[in-house]
Amino acid sequence: MKPIITLLSILFTSVQLFAQAAPCGTEQTKASVDQLKASKALFQKLDITQTEDSKYVPVKFHLIADSVGNGRVKEYDILNQLCILNEDFSNTDFQFYLKDADFSYFNSTAIFEDSRTSTLAKNQMLTLKDAHAINVFVVNTTSSNTQGSNISYFDPNNDWIVLVKKESEDGTNQLSHQIGHFFSLLHTYFGWPLIGGFDSSYPNWPIAPVNDPTGGLTENQDGSNCTIAGDLLCDTPPDYGFGGLDFSCNYTGGAKDPKGILVDPLENNQMGSFALSECYPYTFTPDQINAMYGDYAKSSRDYIRQSSYVPNTTQVTEPATLVWPGNNENLASNIGVTLDWNDVPNAEYYLLEVSRSLNFSSLTQNYIVTESQKELPELTANKKYYWKVTPFNDGASCMNGLTSPKWKFKASPLATSNIKEINAWDVIPNPTTASTLKFAIELDKALEITAQLVAVNGQVLSTKDLKVNTGKQVISMPNTKLSNGTYFLRLISKNGMETRRVVIQN
Ligand SMILES: [Zn+2]
Repeated sequence: MKPIITLLSILFTSVQLFAQAAPCGTEQTKASVDQLKASKALFQKLDITQTEDSKYVPVKFHLIADSVGNGRVKEYDILNQLCILNEDFSNTDFQFYLKDADFSYFNSTAIFEDSRTSTLAKNQMLTLKDAHAINVFVVNTTSSNTQGSNISYFDPNNDWIVLVKKESEDGTNQLSHQIGHFFSLLHTYFGWPLIGGFDSSYPNWPIAPVNDPTGGLTENQDGSNCTIAGDLLCDTPPDYGFGGLDFSCNYTGGAKDPKGILVDPLENNQMGSFALSECYPYTFTPDQINAMYGDYAKSSRDYIRQSSYVPNTTQVTEPATLVWPGNNENLASNIGVTLDWNDVPNAEYYLLEVSRSLNFSSLTQNYIVTESQKELPELTANKKYYWKVTPFNDGASCMNGLTSPKWKFKASPLATSNIKEINAWDVIPNPTTASTLKFAIELDKALEITAQLVAVNGQVLSTKDLKVNTGKQVISMPNTKLSNGTYFLRLISKNGMETRRVVIQN
């Protein structure tokens, strides 16, 4: 909605409007201008291979929670954010990937709420910083100061990006915009505040930018001063910060440049003042892309260019299908529970989400795994667990439509034992296959036992002598060639013997 504001009220509300409307907290200074100039100059010296080769850029996402571990962004949302980033850069040779195919996790209320002003936060972030990746800290808010608390930013002094998690949850292009800053791009409205309050009743835009380190030049529509005014790039027309006005992606305010020519901004530019509203999809212009290539070639960017690693950029297209435990299954043991799903074509990684809550909002444990199964740590007995799986690759992580249906299971505590020195034990899972036959056992002190696999006619098929340690553990039986059917697993200690039925379903 277009704000209806009187001239007087502009004076009093402009700061507040800035806080509400400004989507970007990156401070652009004289140093930013110098960085861009250096990028442009270096681009001119690059040869064709440096400009046209694929540029694989590692990104390390630091998923920050408050000091007790609450509020952390979901891994799913960040993988999806990486997908958006690559889509937004699809007309460039940059290809971003998840460094080490994993996330960094850290609990700190200082970083989570106050990365801009807290010294503790800054010191912790320096420790967490990955030396060979673009570092993105995903937080709740960026300052304890209410002004601009929801605003993401690039910090040129520390070379890291702080991303408000809501941007990832909403699937915005905010990260793409900040990566533009990382690679030295200026706002196309550089020098102007992003501020609402002027409309078509003020067709003559204030002539000089109010805060312009380039020297107060106003960019002309005809390109006559494009290398020294605005963002210093010539294929991005003037933008005097109109995006704060809500022109629904089509500026019709009628502002004129110093020559009296109507200004026609590029509303869908990633670095424009309309970016981060709703003018999707946003793009970079050729001059912006070339400037980013120049920045990427700088020696100060060696640290993200050092690896010869080539990520997997094949987009997975088939969803995951779950196998075990079946939906609504009641398991005989709460330890040694292994979740299993089918291999998905072209997928190198899987995001496994396991939660005690129906909508995965709390009591959730997430894993990134390379195999299509995962043994979980001990579960709370007799409680419902929900789980789902999404396949992805480290350089192609569009997740939409790839998540399996959500299944649930419950696990009973391990069956108690009538052998005195064994607390509890059972075959897990059951039924099982011949090659994966195993049992879980819980002991108060170490014990020597013999495990035997026995046929229904009493014939002993395999024997394993074991020294079992104190505590809870899962023990695999020798791999035998059993056909489908019923068998028995027998444990023998010096104080007794106990048998459990096993069903083999290969
Ligand atoms: Zn910005």
